[in-house]
Amino acid sequence: MQMSHPVYDMAVVGGGINGVGIAVDAAGRGLSVFLCEKDDLANHTSSASSKLIHGGLRYLEHKEFRLVHEALVEREILLAKAPHIIRALRFIMPHQPHLRPAWLIRTGLFIYDHLGKRKKLAPCKHISFEAVTSPLKDEMTQGFEYSDCAVDDARLVILNAMQARELGARIVTQTRCTAAYRENGLWNLHLENEQGSYQIQAKTLVNAAGPWVKRFIEQNLKQKSPYGLRLIQGSHIIVPRIYDGDQAFILQNDDQRIVFAIPYLEQFTLIGTTDHEYQGDLDQVKITSLEVDYLMDVYNDHFKHQLAVEDILYTYSGVRSLCDDESDNPSAITRDYTLAISHEHENTAPLLSVFGGKLTTYRKLAESAMMHLGPYFPAMKKPWTETALLPGAENLVSVELLMQQIMQRIDGVSLALASRWAHAYGTRVWKFLDGVIATDELGEDFGHGLFAKEVDYLVDEEWAKSSEDILWRRSKLGFQFDDAEIQKLDQYLLKLLMKRSEDTAA
Ligand SMILES: Cc1cc2nc3c(=O)[nH]c(=O)nc-3n(C[C@H](O)[C@H](O)[C@H](O)COP(=O)(O)OP(=O)(O)OC[C@H]3O[C@@H](n4cnc5c(N)ncnc54)[C@H](O)[C@@H]3O)c2cc1C
Repeated sequence: MQMSHPVYDMAVVGGGINGVGIAVDAAGRGLSVFLCEKDDLANHTSSASSKLIHGGLRYLEHKEFRLVHEALVEREILLAKAPHIIRALRFIMPHQPHLRPAWLIRTGLFIYDHLGKRKKLAPCKHISFEAVTSPLKDEMTQGFEYSDCAVDDARLVILNAMQARELGARIVTQTRCTAAYRENGLWNLHLENEQGSYQIQAKTLVNAAGPWVKRFIEQNLKQKSPYGLRLIQGSHIIVPRIYDGDQAFILQNDDQRIVFAIPYLEQFTLIGTTDHEYQGDLDQVKITSLEVDYLMDVYNDHFKHQLAVEDILYTYSGVRSLCDDESDNPSAITRDYTLAISHEHENTAPLLSVFGGKLTTYRKLAESAMMHLGPYFPAMKKPWTETALLPGAENLVSVELLMQQIMQRIDGVSLALASRWAHAYGTRVWKFLDGVIATDELGEDFGHGLFAKEVDYLVDEEWAKSSEDILWRRSKLGFQFDDAEIQKLDQYLLKLLMKRSEDTAA
C-alpha cells in the first residue's frame, strides 16, 4: 500500500524511552516528527528496568561522576514533571563491614547527597536495626538510609509519546523500519506493518533502537557501526510482599554487585537485578535458572524470611545496550550514553544513533541529541522539557487529593481502584471518568477494576492494541487476570479495534 506523506524534519526509529524522549523534545521545538515502533511502546528494555529514577550509588565506585551528577539532578526534575508515576523512595543499605568499610559508604553517600540539586528528597542517615522489628537477619545491626525515586517505567514512555503526539508528532506502533537510505539530501524510510508497507521521507534519522541499535545500522542502513555494543541481560523476580513498610533495600553481594528489593504495587516485592552478557534472541529475553539462584541467594543471605523458588510469582528480563568500553566485567561497563552523529556530504541528512543510556537520564539525552542536531535546524526553539509537565500532571495538586475526588464523584470506586487510576493517569483520568457518577456507567466489567471506558481510553489515547499492552504495560493488572478473563478482554478488543479501523476508513 503506497500512501503520500509529508517530508518530516525527523524520523525516529524505536519507541522506548530514548526514542520518545527525543521525539517529544524535537516536537516541542517546532520540528515535525515521525516515530515508528516495531512492537508496542516500551515493549522491550524500557519496561524491563528496576523501575528506579536514581543517581546510581554504585556507579560512584566506577568513578562515573558525570553520569551520577546528571542522574541525581534529574530525579527531582522528573519527580516534578510526573508526580503521579514517580515517587520518592527510601533505600536501606545494611552495613556489611567485610564488603565495604563504613567510611567508604559514608563518603559515597555524602557525595550522593551533595552531587545533585537535592531539595525535596530527604538526606542520607546512619540507622540501627531493632532485632525484633527488622526483617533483616540478626547479625545486621547497623546500616544507612538514603533517597532515590521509583517510577512506572512503561508509563513514563507512554506519557512522553502522548506529549509528543499532542505537539504534532506522528507516532505509529506495530510498524517496523525495514530499511532506510539517503537520497537527494533526505532519508527514505521503508516501513512495514500488518496492513502492508509504505515509505516516508525525513531530513534527519534518529536510531533509538536500543538493543537493536548496532544491528539497525549494519543490516537496515548497510553502514558500519561507529561503536561496539555490549548486550547485558538483567533479570528480576517478583514475590509476594516480604516485609512491611515502604522502604527498599540495597543488598551488597560478595561479588561487589548490589541487588535491590523494592516494594512493588502494594502486594509484591521486586528483586533484581543481574548482569550478564547476552547473545540470544533480543525479542525473547528470559530469566535463566542461574539468575534465579543468584537473586534468591542474595536475598536469602540478608533476610530472616527465607524465599523458595515456589514463591516466585513472575519474572522479567531485559537487555541493556551499552556502549562497549572493553570492560571485562559486565557490571563495570559504563551506563553512560554516547550519541553518534554522521551525515551525507554537504552536511545533509544526519543520522543520530543512541548507544546506552538510562531511563533516569532520557530527558538530558534528548536535550543532548537536539544540541547535536541544532546546526541542521537553525530555526529550532530552545530547550523546554525541564519544567514541562507530562500528561496527567497538569493541575494535579496531589495524587491523594485526586483519589479522594474520584471516590467522592463516583459511587462504588474502592480505594485501591482510585489509587490505581490516580497513579496511572493523574488528572487525565477525567478523560474517561468525566460525567460518570457510578461504576455501573463504566461499561463492560472485565474484572479487577477494569471497565470498558478505561479500555477504550487506552486504545484511543495510548496506542493499546492487545490485552498484553493493557494488562502488563499500561495497568499492571496482568498479575490478577486469569486466562478466561484475558480471553474476554481480547474478544472485546478485537471488536473495538475493528470498529475503530472501520471508523477511520469511512
Ligand atoms: C535489567 C535492567 C534494569 C534497569 N534498571 C534501570 C533503572 O532502574 N533505572 C534506569 O534509569 N535505567 C534502568 N535500566 C536502563 C533502561 O531501562 C534503559 O537504558 C532504557 O530503557 C533503554 O531505552 P531505549 O529506548 O534505548 O531502548 P528500548 O526500550 O529497548 O527501546 C528500543 C525500541 O526500538 C524498537 N525497534 C528496534 N528496531 C526497530 C525497527 N527496525 N523498527 C521499529 N522499531 C524498532 C524496539 O522494539 C524497542 O521497543 C535498566 C535496564 C535493564 C536491562
